[in-house]
Amino acid sequence: MDARFFAAWMTETAHAVAAARDELTRLDAAIGDADHGTNLDRGFTAVTESPPAAATPREVLTAAGTTLIRKVGGASGPLYGTALRRMGAALPDTPEVSLADLAEALTAGVDGVRRLGGAAEGDKTMVDALAPAARALTEAVRAGASPEAALDAAMSAAEAGAKATVPLRARKGRASYLGERSVGHMDPGAASTSLLLAALRAACGPGSPGAGSGPAGPA
Ligand code: ADP
Ligand code: MG
Repeated sequence: MDARFFAAWMTETAHAVAAARDELTRLDAAIGDADHGTNLDRGFTAVTESPPAAATPREVLTAAGTTLIRKVGGASGPLYGTALRRMGAALPDTPEVSLADLAEALTAGVDGVRRLGGAAEGDKTMVDALAPAARALTEAVRAGASPEAALDAAMSAAEAGAKATVPLRARKGRASYLGERSVGHMDPGAASTSLLLAALRAACGPGSPGAGSGPAGPA
């Protein structure tokens, strides 16, 4: 996996976030302040509009994280920005990194979010989607899965984690001010995390023959 792969991840994320902007904002309207879609759309648009001359995966993710921190005012900007910067820092500074490197980096990214935001799993935040995704990726790597299968597993885990936030009561972020009234709604940050993991899977290109219909990713 090279810088092109990670740049493709950011591009796929920007497209997915733009397409889901209104839905993310609707989720945030229910338990927050109705800006999550616009926050992330602004951030990831900036990430892809000014791509750095990045030669390594580490540089791509570090630059993307810095841009998110600069451009997104809400809680999610510093949190996602930190996740990407921590991921970048955890990768070897080489033109190519392995799937195992990516799994370790994602785990480091989740730790960064936990440390910055103080949220644990079950607090109804993006951590509820990020942490299971990092675990699924790590397990898949251990089991010797292909990149496609491993990223499928990470994507599914994030999706399941996001869905599982619906019955939870928020204990961090703006939604926590609602107390019991936050129950019954999906956490917007967990929903956007599942988009990021789907975009990571998409950056990998189609999987088994006939499975994928999207544009081919980098070979
Ligand atoms: P804001 O809450 O400042 O309006 P956003 O609406 O862009 O920012 O993002 C809200 C999302 O950020 C929440 O749905 C949640 O997933 C995430 N979030 C908020 N606070 C925390 C935290 N302390 N730790 C982890 N994630 C958090
Ligand atoms: Mg908000």
